[in-house]
Amino acid sequence: MHAPPMPITDRLCLSETSLLTVDLSTLVQNWRRLAERGAPAQCSAVVKANAYGLGLEPVMRALLAAGCKTFFVATASEGERARAVSKEAVIYVLDGLAPGAAPRLKAAELRPVLNSLAEIGEWADAGAAALHFDTGMNRLGLAPAEAGAAADLMQQTAPALVMSHFVSAQSPDDPRNARQIDAFASIAKHFPGAPGSLCNSSGIFLPSNPHLDLTRPGYALYGGNPTPGVANPMRAVARLEALVLSTREIAAGESVGYDATWTATRPTRLATVALGYADGLPVRASSGPSRPPAEALVAGRRRPIIGRVSMDYVALDVTDAGKVKRGDWVEILGEDIGVDELAVRAETIGYEILTRLGGRCARRYVGG
Ligand SMILES: *Cc1c(COP(=O)(O)O)cnc(C)c1O
Repeated sequence: MHAPPMPITDRLCLSETSLLTVDLSTLVQNWRRLAERGAPAQCSAVVKANAYGLGLEPVMRALLAAGCKTFFVATASEGERARAVSKEAVIYVLDGLAPGAAPRLKAAELRPVLNSLAEIGEWADAGAAALHFDTGMNRLGLAPAEAGAAADLMQQTAPALVMSHFVSAQSPDDPRNARQIDAFASIAKHFPGAPGSLCNSSGIFLPSNPHLDLTRPGYALYGGNPTPGVANPMRAVARLEALVLSTREIAAGESVGYDATWTATRPTRLATVALGYADGLPVRASSGPSRPPAEALVAGRRRPIIGRVSMDYVALDVTDAGKVKRGDWVEILGEDIGVDELAVRAETIGYEILTRLGGRCARRYVGG
């Protein structure tokens, strides 16, 4: 179940002014939902970038307890942190093999996702590894035409996994999806018997179900919507709340915040909230003329952000919001206002919102 709101007394006991709550039971629910949707493929978990900002160790522990066996990180140091959590987990490093990194990966029994013939050569027979083919992203991975050469190099140890990555699985009608699926099928013929993997979060929901042997969700695990434009099948895992530090009344004509980017057109009541861009609230969530304002929940009702988000503070217009006062808590992200909504209002993507959250906030893990 989703955690009930933290009692205000508990939050005050923390003497904190902002709080990121991560609901590990909802995380596990999301993982199970993705595993079901992708079955019979095995469902892994992508926990790079500190589990999209939510905390590698607690996230990994919760998913291990739920039966997740395979994890993807980006870097060797993330891999070492993941290895410290579990001796048994299969851990792939998406960066592959940085020059000279083989001994380090080997020491922690990490599996590189080999991205080139040079990396295959350097890894030689140092242990299990994945092969990553680039079927259209033009970012990392072997070219499809290198499949034969890669297979020759890998004759001693068959790849533990052969994978590729979708360019725009979040747009199910994009013809690139089918082209990438076809390209991958041709590549896979060079590696008979090796497990295949194509799907990130959105890929899992493609109508053609290209789940193969292993799926690799990240964003959707943490509550992001893998099916933009359609209701989110996932539930929010992160809740971000902050304290009202002060309130004030200003007259029509007065401005709010740096550079006076917002001016009151009527007598206005403001709440100054202890959350800013140093906590992960993007400056782009500032009010602007070109789009609807980002909002926060104040006593269950939405109130707009006004003026410029500063490093430590943001102002809300709480005129007509009843008795908002110093010491009240407001919710910036949660079940109601999700990461995808804030991302649109802040002209970014939910992935960036998540990975930048809570550098300074108090953190609380519930449901673990
Ligand atoms: C980040 C990443 C994923 C996870 O993608 P989501 O869209 O967050 O589900 C999967 N595979 C690769 C190669 C990645 O880099």
